[in-house]
Amino acid sequence: MSSDVKKPFDWYFKSNLLIRILIGLIAGAIVGIIFGTKIGWMAPFGSLFVNLLKMIVMPVVLATLVVGAASINPSTLGKIGVKIIAFYLLTSAFAVAVGLLMGNLFKPGLGLALGSAADAAGKVLAQPKFTDTLIAIIPKNPFGSISSGAVLPTIFFAIILGISISYLRQSKDERIQKSGDILFGAFDGLAEAMYLIVRGVLQYAPIGVFALISVVFGQQGAKAVGPLGTVTLAAFLGYILHVIIVYGAILLISKINPIKFFKGARAPMITAFVTRSSSGTLPVTMKAADENFGISKNVYSFTLPLGATINMDGTAIYQGVCALFIGFAIGMPLSFAQQLTVILTAVLASIGTAGVPGAGAIMLLMVLNSVGLPVEAGTPVAAAYAMVLGIDAILDMGRTAVNVTGDMAGTLIVAKSEKQVDLEKIR
Ligand code: ASP
Repeated sequence: MSSDVKKPFDWYFKSNLLIRILIGLIAGAIVGIIFGTKIGWMAPFGSLFVNLLKMIVMPVVLATLVVGAASINPSTLGKIGVKIIAFYLLTSAFAVAVGLLMGNLFKPGLGLALGSAADAAGKVLAQPKFTDTLIAIIPKNPFGSISSGAVLPTIFFAIILGISISYLRQSKDERIQKSGDILFGAFDGLAEAMYLIVRGVLQYAPIGVFALISVVFGQQGAKAVGPLGTVTLAAFLGYILHVIIVYGAILLISKINPIKFFKGARAPMITAFVTRSSSGTLPVTMKAADENFGISKNVYSFTLPLGATINMDGTAIYQGVCALFIGFAIGMPLSFAQQLTVILTAVLASIGTAGVPGAGAIMLLMVLNSVGLPVEAGTPVAAAYAMVLGIDAILDMGRTAVNVTGDMAGTLIVAKSEKQVDLEKIR
């Protein structure tokens, strides 16, 4: 095909995708602020983008992880697992500390004196028990887990399936060996086909991003700069500091160029920001790991879905800031001991947070319980909680972008330590 022939949408398809997405992001925020809730009719265009991404998530997780696990020896997989879990836990603890630091500096909510305001519609929401979450990692029905989008049990099943396939492929029995190869090829092909779809879906991203952002800013933008401005400021400063200082330092120590890292991670960061879902962003995160950093499938197929499920540094920061906000707002600032408790529970809560929009706000209830501030209907705590819930979409954008950046950083560092990355792309 000659590339000289001009097609009607060349101006769109031939311009830089990331710049187009960025334009969608900024234009969406401006249009949302100007038109307010009147822009609500754009919502379906945003949902279309989110649904297109979600459509790919489970097939891509299953297929890449089966291929990854089938091409790696189990002891290496164990080593990668230990390293990545250590990274995820450590950085999450740092993140809560960053959140608390910001909260103590900015003291959001101080002087609000919600002590008597009892008009909030506080509800006690059910929280999953930690042990239940652990046991549920083993799927009773793997097909059920895949169809309901449960990532952890799918990871478990895919690893076991991948390892079994690798044994089939080494079998001396020719029939078994061949069937192993066929299965491997099928999953490999499925993964590749999914990446192709992601590429197509991303062409729609600028429009989807515009719609998602304009609706959120139309509904909540004014509130986030108004009375809740300090919470927003403290949370976003925490997000930025954590990404630049904590990740930046760890990357430098690992001899990875942070600039190259952030450049390569742009698409997943923006996608996370607008979709507010780590899981929904997974296809884009995996594509970036593969194409921008040359990380081997063995590593990212495992570490990224795991990270999208348990590694939530942005959420941890948010929980630190909001716990302090609620303490200040009701006139009972958290003591040092209470803040230490927040570090522990917020790490656990962020692990238990699902990678979907708004999940972190539900897990905040667990953190509040742990410091003796249960959200019960009619109480000042409920009023303060309702306030932050009112701007959750804005706070969620930032925290999800941090969550996904953390998954990428951890994956890159572990991949480098295992020599499973294209060094040219990260130095
Ligand atoms: N939306 C976040 C995520 O998907 C989770 C949260 O609500 O904190 O990573």
